[in-house]
Amino acid sequence: MVEKTETERMLVRKIEEGTVVDHIPDWKAETVARVLRLDKLARMQADVSVAILQNVESKTLGRKDMIKIDRWHVDEKDADILTLIFPNITVNYIAEWKVSKYEARVPDVIEGRVKCPEVLCITNAQREPVVPKFFTLKKERLLQCHYCDAVVEFDSVPEHVRT
Ligand SMILES: [Zn+2]
Repeated sequence: MVEKTETERMLVRKIEEGTVVDHIPDWKAETVARVLRLDKLARMQADVSVAILQNVESKTLGRKDMIKIDRWHVDEKDADILTLIFPNITVNYIAEWKVSKYEARVPDVIEGRVKCPEVLCITNAQREPVVPKFFTLKKERLLQCHYCDAVVEFDSVPEHVRT
């Protein structure tokens, strides 16, 4: 475990149950929140607390952002999508004060989470739309729609996440 800096210790207490998303590039926490669809926590009126730390000192990155979510387990599939955009991000799950690191990996297929940019794609049909499905082209850093071949750059994925 990387030792906590003084600032981190000061800003946030340890959590008993939940998720810590760490090593987010500085000032990018909002993008991460969008990919993790944290706004749904508000809609669900979930009994969770979220701490977003921005531009805190990091031993390895200089500066970084962090998101701590008390009493909420971030979906592993969303964590995997995060690694498309931010390869160095770490996701830790905490249960009974014990931290376990999630080994996120770039998925081969992404279903249901990203919207196809092509308006005429059958996944965007007004009536009976099909669930979107993309293949990841890792070398090119692109997602390709299974149905219409439209592509989304990894870095643009946050703008296409379904809410
Ligand atoms: Zn499509």
